[in-house]
Amino acid sequence: MAVYQCNACQGRFQSPQGGQTVYHECPPLSVPELIAAHDNGTQAFPPGQTALIAQAKVERKPKPITGEVDDGPASATLRRLSITRTGHVDQNLIDGVLQKDPTQPVDQVSPGAGVTQVSP
Ligand SMILES: [Zn+2]
Repeated sequence: MAVYQCNACQGRFQSPQGGQTVYHECPPLSVPELIAAHDNGTQAFPPGQTALIAQAKVERKPKPITGEVDDGPASATLRRLSITRTGHVDQNLIDGVLQKDPTQPVDQVSPGAGVTQVSP
C-alpha cells in the first residue's frame, strides 16, 4: 500500500485500502488554522470572514484548570462556513469516472496542491 501526503493539509493516507482506491479531500480549516492563516498572511479572507476570525481570536479563552480552549459564537460560525484552505485538494471524481492513480489530477473535483507519494 502506497502512502501519500497531501500538499495542502499535510494529511497522510494509504491507497489502496481493502482493495479500494482512496480519494483524499482536505478537511475545512479549523478555527486555530484560520487564525494562524490570517495572522501569517498565508491565506486571504473576505472582510466578513476577517471580522469573524478577529472576533474568534478574542473570544477563545483557555479554561483555568484544564487549559482546554473555550470557543465563542464566532468560532461556531466559522466552523459552519467550512472554509477551505489554499490549494484545497478534492480527489473525488467528476461523473464517477474510474481512476487508478491518486496522484493523477485528471477528472478530479479539485486537484489543488496535489498529493506526494511518501512511501511505496
Ligand atoms: Zn488535504
